[in-house]
Formats: sequence, structure tokens, C-alpha cells
Amino acid sequence: MKTAQQYEESLRKLNLKVYLQGELVKSPVDNPIIRPSMNSVKMTYELAQDPQYEELMTATSHLTGKKINRFCHLHQSADDLVKKVKMQRLLGQKTAACFQRCVGMDAINAVDSTTFEMDQKLGTDYHARFTKFLLKMQEEDWTVDGAMTDPKGDRGLSPSKQVDPDLFVHVVEKRADGIVVSGAKAHQTGAINSHWILVMPTISMAKEDADYAVSFSAPADAEGIFYIYGRQSCDTRKLEGGDIDVGNKQFGGHEALMVFDNVFIPWENVFMCGEYEFSGMLVERFAGYHRQSYGGCKVGVGDVLIGATALAADYNGAAKASHVKDKLIEMMHLNETLYACGIACSAEGHKTASGNYIIDLLLANVCKQNVTRFPYEIARLAEDIAGGLMVTMPSEKDLRHPEIGKVVEKYFRGVAAVSTENRMRILRLIENITLGTAAVGYRTESMHGAGSPQAQRIMIARQGNLENKKALAKAIAGIEQK
Ligand code: SF4
Ligand code: FE
Repeated sequence: MKTAQQYEESLRKLNLKVYLQGELVKSPVDNPIIRPSMNSVKMTYELAQDPQYEELMTATSHLTGKKINRFCHLHQSADDLVKKVKMQRLLGQKTAACFQRCVGMDAINAVDSTTFEMDQKLGTDYHARFTKFLLKMQEEDWTVDGAMTDPKGDRGLSPSKQVDPDLFVHVVEKRADGIVVSGAKAHQTGAINSHWILVMPTISMAKEDADYAVSFSAPADAEGIFYIYGRQSCDTRKLEGGDIDVGNKQFGGHEALMVFDNVFIPWENVFMCGEYEFSGMLVERFAGYHRQSYGGCKVGVGDVLIGATALAADYNGAAKASHVKDKLIEMMHLNETLYACGIACSAEGHKTASGNYIIDLLLANVCKQNVTRFPYEIARLAEDIAGGLMVTMPSEKDLRHPEIGKVVEKYFRGVAAVSTENRMRILRLIENITLGTAAVGYRTESMHGAGSPQAQRIMIARQGNLENKKALAKAIAGIEQK
């Protein structure tokens, strides 16, 4: 396993082509806007070296029997699935941000079982190729960006019917030694902090879309791949040099547009090429795993937000008010409900044909459906308790100013025992999670990440077995009519 420092050094060796605010970034690792997101991924390496977190952060490879980072692991039991969620909660608590590495873990687990079943049915040899890639990933302790979401253009049209063929990643050429792909993947979590990418199709496809039914791996800095970094609310505060106004100085997350401009992929790294009838399976499984993931990471960030809100109440002198106590209880209730869903869909997991474990899909979709709502309510209650000062208070520079600093100090103090600076720090942290850079992960991603709410409702309809429920009601009511 790599140490945290080795991870950082390994990123420096990559030759990534990244655009940020219209400029090519020289060293992403050292860029002040990008670096906090790198620190979050780095934490997945750091905690894996810490004996107190060994059980959650590491696992035993089913391929080599060696100790590996859990983010490189194929879940071998329902217990592994439960530990995954617990690990994500832990990392959410430690970073209060998106630590990005889950997309690769969810992708390898989905690609493993899908390629196995595809080979069984079609006689292809994708699973053996994929296993070689996985072995390398485990040995090198790579961060892999599981890349699913295409830009999608006109949502009313299938991939092959789009005016611009690149709106979904597709095969432009098949050669004796491999394929050439073009297109893009949008909203790519952690792309700039990844060693490799693992591409999957984004929707189930029909025969006419066969060129779009493609899955492969590639080095993140392969020839023809480049990135455009996603803008986040309040991101340029990171350029101001202070450490209060950013809310979370050390950690963050990121998304980027990942563009493939005629990228060559050797056959050994191709895991689906034209088998359109299996694209739906791959999408459903990846999405299922990632919907489970949110029952861990969002809960960990929620823990920090609830803690910050309780501190804001303490610093305001309002902690004893019964409605404040009750709102904090509600926040915890909502947060633990999300966790309960993450644990439940894991505990009810089952073995796939390839041997790894998959979550209960119905419960994972219920988990994510709750995630589209509860973090918003938790954020609303946090803002309620924090008060308007969270969005109207002066900057850190005002606080540090030789003259007006005293005024800020005087008028923005809450309880006498707590400094104005500490009160500002906690309010800025709440602002960061609910409205700032971390709100990308805590709010809008809770809505749309791993599929928008309607996608879960479709899965709930499919998995919910309504006919069985009708039969139960008929039996109790004494109805024999079919
Ligand atoms: Fe992991 Fe959560 Fe970020 Fe997805 S949103 S990559 S599950 S931390
Ligand atoms: Fe996500």
C-alpha cells in the first residue's frame, strides 16, 4: 500500500492536462484551488496506515491474499459491504468533504460481476482482462476514477441519434491492437487526483447504440485525454490566503469534465465493446453501489455539520432553548436514518456469479432517495440555528485589521467565553458545507450524484414487487379472484 506521501508524489509524476479558469494548470497538486481535494483523497491513504482504522480501511485481496486498501477491494461478503459504508462515514467525518475515491471502488465491483456474466453468456474474455487490471490497481494502490456520466446532449434522443456523436463516449475505430474512443464524461469526481480511469456506459442501450456500449480503463494522463476543472461556489476564497473564510481550509472535493479526443485503448484494457445488452446491467450495478456509498459519506459530512451547528448554538448562547435542542435531535434522526439505509442495503447484500458481493438494490435506491432529501433538511435546520450572521459577517481580513478588527471582535461576539474568531470559524464551516465549496458534495450531489431522484423511483418501482404486496392484501382480505 502507498503511504499518503507516496500517493502525493505519484500524482506529481502524472502528466495531466488540466484547464482551470481558462488556463492550463502546471502542477495540479500544488494549485491552491485543487490541493484541498487532493488532501481528501490523501486521507484514504493516511488512515489505511493507521492501526486504529486498519479493519475499516484495509481488506485482504481475494486475488493475492495481501493486505490492500479497501478502496481497491472487491467485496467478498456482506460484512465487507457494511465496512465499506463505515469507512465512508469515517472519511466524511475526517474531511467534511467528498474524498472521491469511492467511484473507482464502485466501478471495479460493478465491472467485475458484469464482465463475468457477459463472458458466461457471450463467450467473450473480458473478465480475465479486467482481473489483470484489478491486480495492477491493487498492487499499485491506485486511485481510479470510475467514469460513467456522459454529457448526454438532448435527453430525448438516444446516443446514436444525437446531432453531435461525441455527446456519449463511443468507439470511433476498431483496430487489430485496440480501439479508438472519443467523447467526454461530465461531473467526474476526483478525476484530477486519479492515476487511472475506468470508463463505463451511462445508460442501457439498444442495438443501434452498440458503438456507445463501451467500457475500458486508461491511464489518467493517456494521450488525447484532457480535463476542464469544475467551478465551485466560493472557490476563489482559497486564493485569498486566510484560513477562516474558506470554512474548511484543508479538505475539499472536485469534479471535472473529462474529454477523450481520439484516445487509443489497447484490447487488454477493453472490458465491453458493443455488447449493448449488458450496458444496463453495468449502469444499474455501479449506480447501486454508489447509492449505497452515499449512506456513508454524506452521513459523515452530516456528523460534522451537526457538530458545527451545535457549537454555533453554544457560541450564540442558545443551546438550552428547547426548540434548538429539538432541531438538533431532528438533524441527528435524519442523519442516522441515512446511515441505517446504507447499513441495511449492505447487510442484505448477496453474492454475484463472479463471487463478489452486491448490495440489495431496492434498499440502496431507498437510501439514495432519502439522500436527495434529508441533507437539504439538515442544511435548512443548520441555517436556522446558525442565524443570518453566517452569510452577512465581515471577512477574516476585517477581523485581522488593526482598527476595525476591534469593532468586529466587539459586535460579533456571542457568549463571552468564546472568541469572536472561533464563532466566525464555526459559522464559516457551516457556510462551506451548506453554501460554499463543500455544498457541491453535500447538497446538489446529494440530489443528482449516482442518479437523479427519478432514477431511483424507477428502480424502486422495478424492485418493489407491488404484485406480491397485492397478493398479501388479497390473502388477508379473503379475495380469491386472480
Ligand atoms: Fe465517495 Fe461520497 Fe464523494 Fe461519491 S460523493 S466519491 S461516495 S465521498
Ligand atoms: Fe458522487
